[in-house]
Amino acid sequence: MRLILMGPPGAGKGTQAKYVAEHFGIPAISTGDIFRANVSQGTPLGVEAKRYMDAGEYVPDEVTNRMVRNRIDEDDAAPGFLLDGYPRTVAQVSELDQMIEATGHRLDAAVVLTVDAEELVQRLLARAQTEGRADDTEEVIRRRQEVYTEQTEPLIDVYRSRGLLVEVDGMGEVDEVTQRVFAALDVLPSS
Ligand code: AMP
Repeated sequence: MRLILMGPPGAGKGTQAKYVAEHFGIPAISTGDIFRANVSQGTPLGVEAKRYMDAGEYVPDEVTNRMVRNRIDEDDAAPGFLLDGYPRTVAQVSELDQMIEATGHRLDAAVVLTVDAEELVQRLLARAQTEGRADDTEEVIRRRQEVYTEQTEPLIDVYRSRGLLVEVDGMGEVDEVTQRVFAALDVLPSS
């Protein structure tokens, strides 16, 4: 099973990614988490990524693509994977296509979580209090939403036109959303 999970910042991607990946027995690969781990370890990748993350901008495609390529080459990703937060740009979509094609597989679905704009801001402000992420300040939150709209929202149409888009209502309790994702994915042809 090869899945991508999309949605604006605050849609609940990270939370849902873990449940969905566990259900299918595949790793949840979060580019944001990998960047954050590198930032906290002070690696060269972390130093490079931090400048962009703190400003709410995307890390350059070459850097991000290389990191994902290395991660999905690891053994645990051979049976499949769920990508949380990748691809986020049109250039990343073609890169991912090549990565998957090279393994002789195909993408099964692109799940997008939809959540009201007002609810998104409330969730992110609440997360800022509990998790203290550096990029959860009000100004950076706003910038991240803009960048999503400009650079990532167009990907929804790309996957829709390929017949791979699975839209899931991301409003409500975590459990309810997880059940909706499972219900939507259960109707897919098995791979
Ligand atoms: P996330 O945890 O998915 O919200 O990601 C946090 C931050 O990491 C983003 O605001 C970007 O700066 C960076 N990031 C994560 N995934 C990507 C990606 N696919 N392309 C570029 N930057 C990314």
